[in-house]
Amino acid sequence: MPFSAFFRGSAMLCTAAFCLSAAAQMDLNYARDAKQPVDQDYTQRIHKYTTLPELNSPLTDYLPASSTVPTPEKVLGDIAGAPDILPYAEDVYRYFRLLESASPRVKVFTIGHTEEGREMIAVAVADESLLKNYKENDARLAKLADPRTINMNDATAAELVKHSVPVYYITGTIHSPETGAPTALMELAYRLAVDNAPYIQYIRTHMITLITPVVEVDGRDRMVDVYKWHKAHPNENYPRLVYWGHYVAHDNNRDAMTLTLNLSRNVLDTYIGWHAQVLHDLHESVPFLYDNTVGDEPYNAWLDPILTNEWQMIGWNNVQEMTKFGMPGVFTHGNFDTWSPGYLMFLAAMHNGISRLYETFGNGGADTVERILTPDEYSRTWYRQNPPYPKVKWSQRDNNNYEETALLVSLSYFAQNGQTFLNNFYLKSKRSILKPTDSGPAAYVLPANEESQDRQRMLLDILRAQHVEISRTTESVTVSVPVKPKRESREDEAAPKPQQPKTEPRTFAAGSFVIRMDQPYSRIADALLDRQYWAPNDPQKTPYDDTGWSLPALFSVEAVRVTEPAILKTRMETVPAGEGFGGSGGNCSIYLIPNHADPSLITFRYLLKNATVSASDTSFTANNQQFPTGSLIISDASQDEVKTAFGKTQLAPVGVCAIPSVQMHKITAPRIAMMHTWLSTQTEGWWRQALDKLGVPYDYISTQTVSNEDDLRSKYDVILFAPVGNARTAQIIQGLPMWGNALPWKKTDITPNLGRVDSTDDMRPGLGYSGIDHLRHFVEQGGLLITSQDTAQFAIETGLAPGVSVNPHGDLKVVGTLLATTVVDPKSPVLYGYSKPLTVYSEDGLSMNISNTVGGTRAPRLGGSEERTTGRGGPDDPDIPQGRPYMAADPRPHPKPWEAMPLNEEQSRNNPNVIPAELRPQVILRYENKEQLLVSGLLDHGDLLAQHAAVVAAHLGKGTVLLFANNPIYRGETIGSYPLVFNAILNFNRIVRNEADNQTAK
Ligand SMILES: [Zn+2]
Repeated sequence: MPFSAFFRGSAMLCTAAFCLSAAAQMDLNYARDAKQPVDQDYTQRIHKYTTLPELNSPLTDYLPASSTVPTPEKVLGDIAGAPDILPYAEDVYRYFRLLESASPRVKVFTIGHTEEGREMIAVAVADESLLKNYKENDARLAKLADPRTINMNDATAAELVKHSVPVYYITGTIHSPETGAPTALMELAYRLAVDNAPYIQYIRTHMITLITPVVEVDGRDRMVDVYKWHKAHPNENYPRLVYWGHYVAHDNNRDAMTLTLNLSRNVLDTYIGWHAQVLHDLHESVPFLYDNTVGDEPYNAWLDPILTNEWQMIGWNNVQEMTKFGMPGVFTHGNFDTWSPGYLMFLAAMHNGISRLYETFGNGGADTVERILTPDEYSRTWYRQNPPYPKVKWSQRDNNNYEETALLVSLSYFAQNGQTFLNNFYLKSKRSILKPTDSGPAAYVLPANEESQDRQRMLLDILRAQHVEISRTTESVTVSVPVKPKRESREDEAAPKPQQPKTEPRTFAAGSFVIRMDQPYSRIADALLDRQYWAPNDPQKTPYDDTGWSLPALFSVEAVRVTEPAILKTRMETVPAGEGFGGSGGNCSIYLIPNHADPSLITFRYLLKNATVSASDTSFTANNQQFPTGSLIISDASQDEVKTAFGKTQLAPVGVCAIPSVQMHKITAPRIAMMHTWLSTQTEGWWRQALDKLGVPYDYISTQTVSNEDDLRSKYDVILFAPVGNARTAQIIQGLPMWGNALPWKKTDITPNLGRVDSTDDMRPGLGYSGIDHLRHFVEQGGLLITSQDTAQFAIETGLAPGVSVNPHGDLKVVGTLLATTVVDPKSPVLYGYSKPLTVYSEDGLSMNISNTVGGTRAPRLGGSEERTTGRGGPDDPDIPQGRPYMAADPRPHPKPWEAMPLNEEQSRNNPNVIPAELRPQVILRYENKEQLLVSGLLDHGDLLAQHAAVVAAHLGKGTVLLFANNPIYRGETIGSYPLVFNAILNFNRIVRNEADNQTAK
């Protein structure tokens, strides 16, 4: 604790009924009120359920009694953290509402709902005088949050700080198997409301504690169901939580950039709405308490250093105080790098607050069990001088003791230093506004003439959801921008780089979007719109998450980083939310929609289910407008129907009175199945979410369905097999081991929340060999199977993609990296609408090779070396056998890394492995050359990946297996590559080799 805080603390203690001697104050900082009545019965059970005395602290080893305010027992039937008790969200809320009705120090607010319609709440706890006037306090905080409102006047700010109290926002159980936070937070709120210990009184009167006890409400209720099933079947294995939220599991804590989930937006809006200073997220996967906030390097490069220092202040105080209580295993730093802004807590870090996170030790339920730790968990190291025990009997109560003690220590420290942190909050907000004149840039400009307004709008929508202000120019402006790097040769690279990057003038037309950096939330915009570079020699060798996320690259939308402050002088207006782009509908009944690889094109197709829709086979001109290949031509649709569809998609249609004379093909509304495994549903969940958001209908089936369904083709045109997430082919086929008991995932009386997304009597069986046969049959009959990452590998390894192999990985290092691709097959319908090189997301650097034979790899050196042998002449001369005329060999082919090795007559003769020309795989996209490959993130040994195939169409019978080495639909971030999948769906029967291709293949 800093000296000043120490003094404020002592002053406070001396105003209480007793005054302590200075020497004793440090130890008695958390002393109880001597007159505090104690709930003896509750307290006795705290001791009973705590497995070792040192796993508790003087802060939580008793419960204060109140004659009016109910304890958590009222709802739980036992104390918080009692064994065998895990409350549903509804019960947790019931308790907070009881608290609210019994105490003027508690207020409950609804902050929104989940995807499945469950309520989310926030609970404010503070002294009644603070809660009564919280709106006045908030009005002051709002001014500190936006210093433009006080003309950036430090004296005014100081005055506001003096009269304000901070808001500390705590969020629990975002990760559903991490189950302890709700009961810990129930008891914490009770303590804050009734305990008269001087330090608690100080917290109560000097800050507002805001609590969201359950962040992932859908997942919480499913987790409680699973736990109840476990208690009803005590000697059996119980189902793993295969679905957490409606779409994703653990990745719900990676959504803070694109805010695709309700929980992210609800928490952000609450944090911003209250102008809170801290967002503190509770997790439970590390023994015994890891304050991971301080973390390890690299730190996120867009953070204000004031914040990273605040992490250290609060984190180290936390560790120090708990160490003094004698609690083992409390530490900070650890191996969490603080690079990605995707974590929920980072909503605060990127909006001028303080992000915090605890990992405590949870048992994934409320059983008391013996836990055996691994050496990396119990070893002593520099940041963990007092490590956890190698073996410990651990209870939910132990976990609650740690969570509550740590939070009380933090709240106390924050209250004691509230003025400092409020001033920091103001300074960070002010420094965000000063960005254009200090670190820069001045702004990002999204030019008015962006080809896909659809994708541009989607990017702007994310910024808006992040509370970033968006402006639009009303005049054209010319500023200097960095010269785009040429595609340099290797020789150029050796030349010294100029000191200052070269610039050139660039004019942006009126109507361009400007993200000004002189606004309070400039930091999040900068972090999302900039590029990332993770040095291959960085000491951090195990990045915690993705290393790159640059959204303009992933959306394939231009966002120009402008450093010249003159841009801010341009005349511009604020763009209100939800503004659409009008089309020229007109009175004619034919509608044309240009294809600029807009994700909403597919929405449109399914909205007009009964209309006649065609796609052009070439580009064409109509109404003086250019329409690229693949543009939609719509007839037989009512004007109302079209109007509704345009309204929903915001695409700009062009009305014409005659069908343009261009070759076209009909686009039906293909019947889609989305196939999932019962191994993991997270990575495919992002695909499901994208389809739902864009209104694309599909049947959600599992590998078990496919295993039992022998005529898939009569039901479906397209089957999506999205990535499982590092699944091996054998696992996909076999599922979980069949020994032991069945693992049901379905709705029953004791599990009312399971089976809502999909259900099965037994999660164990996988796709099986029959499933592979059924998929093969489906494709051979003209179906399209779309695969990505591990499922592409699955298709390759099970013979569904003849001629395709996985390119050996070697020392290549890619960790959630953004990579450049280039087009190999410009005629493929998969690439309709793409006019610019596309950036893709690669999880681990998968790439593919193709061959003209099955089972073959690329085999670039079939038949030995071409190096000359020892003999006459120099290294470039031919060796000449004596005594006969010299005969030169035919030159050998040197295919590029994305091409198949051509076969000569000798190799083709009587070779059953040769794939017929019309069935040979086609590379659609390949990775860029080594020099241009990296867009964002970490790339080491990129030459092993460069130029190899990224997207391949393999052929079986009349159908196609589309293989993505990248993940085209991921975390709502990869909007630019969504249309690769959607084009493929809409043109599912056109991704075949045409005659011309076959000729060249021969
Ligand atoms: Zn977690």
